[in-house]
Amino acid sequence: MAKSIQAIRGMHDVLPEQSALWQFLEGRVSAVLASYGYREIRMPILEMTDLFKRSIGEVTDIVEKEMYTFDDRNGDSLTLRPEGTAGCVRAAMEHGLLHNQTQRLWYQGPMFRHERPQKGRYRQFQQIGVETFGMPGPDIDAELILVTARIWQALGLDDLELQLNTLGTAQERAAYRAELVAYFEAHSELLDDDSRRRLGSNPLRILDSKNPEMRAMLDAAPALTRHLGEESKAHLDFICRTLDDAGVAYVINPRLVRGLDYYSRTVFEWVTGRLGAQGTVCAGGRYDGLVEQLGGKPVAAVGFAMGLERLVALLEEANPQAAAYGADLYLVLDGDAAQREGMVLAERLRDALPGLEIICNCGGGSMKAQFKRADRSGAHYALLLGDRELQDGRVVLKPLRSDEAQLSVEREYLTRTLAERLAR
Ligand code: ATP
Ligand code: MG
Repeated sequence: MAKSIQAIRGMHDVLPEQSALWQFLEGRVSAVLASYGYREIRMPILEMTDLFKRSIGEVTDIVEKEMYTFDDRNGDSLTLRPEGTAGCVRAAMEHGLLHNQTQRLWYQGPMFRHERPQKGRYRQFQQIGVETFGMPGPDIDAELILVTARIWQALGLDDLELQLNTLGTAQERAAYRAELVAYFEAHSELLDDDSRRRLGSNPLRILDSKNPEMRAMLDAAPALTRHLGEESKAHLDFICRTLDDAGVAYVINPRLVRGLDYYSRTVFEWVTGRLGAQGTVCAGGRYDGLVEQLGGKPVAAVGFAMGLERLVALLEEANPQAAAYGADLYLVLDGDAAQREGMVLAERLRDALPGLEIICNCGGGSMKAQFKRADRSGAHYALLLGDRELQDGRVVLKPLRSDEAQLSVEREYLTRTLAERLAR
């Protein structure tokens, strides 16, 4: 026999037993987003490679070493999207969504990065992302954070920590950058290879390093605060006061940075201590410079993205009942006549009780085998139909998840009996 082919390293299947949890997560998030007037946009998974080079920037981990890039049959360089912001901005520009208007958009789907796979870090992973355009003030930044807080509430996740920081404006960062480079040069013996490489190109990004040996040196590094202008301070202050009044707790983390020039002011992350090193479940920020960098007129923009695998991992522990699944009814059908009648009966039940999940046994099998399948389906009740039941116009209803006695029900009362017992 030929050797069977397996999934690509770092890319995973979501199996049927896990998909209930994914649907719960996606359903709750999209409902919260809808309740704030956000609308879904769907972009292609492939984009021109230049889009990511121009948006994410050449001196980032993503563009330097993580992208899945290849030439298509025409010789165009294409890339599997490593994140959603670039494609969303591209689509919004291309379709004129940014002219004299505000937009609140969200998207969902797989992203691809050639990283070292480990718990919470995969090569194909899912994000739900939100991008807003045309709103330069701190009001929308605050709204986005309130949206995320409400999402955690809707998911039953109550121990995420909100970290907040401001990166000021590009000009404010220029002065800071010089101070930071001087500090790092004075401590160059403590820098790892990656950081030394970034010193010339992207020194802010060094602050974001996860290397524990650099921790103490980074903690003592100068902060941006001193270089912030009045407007940047007021911007952050508005957000903090809104969160205070709304009862959303946060910590200001001056080490929270993004390395890219198009970022401005607000950055935030939601983190958990329960996922080891991969503790960030949601990261967001303002990127007022990006649209212009991609060739458009300047447009204010702020957004966030959450990693769904990490949220699923949290939900598995924190909210296991979210994963509960199972049919309402499994029809155990004994013989050809019962099979036909049973399937038609199931149609009538679906007409009468919309939303009820009914599985008909197909593929035959002994009573024992059918009841075993019924049990495995997670169904609350088995409904038995055989020659005897066909003759006296009844069915047997057997509870599978409780110790209620089984009962024989006349067909004409079946809908009512089920409606009473399976009310939800
Ligand atoms: P990290 O610091 O964990 O590498 P990042 O800064 O690269 O994250 P973003 O690009 O901001 O991450 O993506 C937003 C979110 O998407 C992250 O907070 C995380 O939850 C999730 N995410 C990012 N990369 C991966 C990955 N390789 N596998 C699973 N989830 C990921
Ligand atoms: Mg990363």
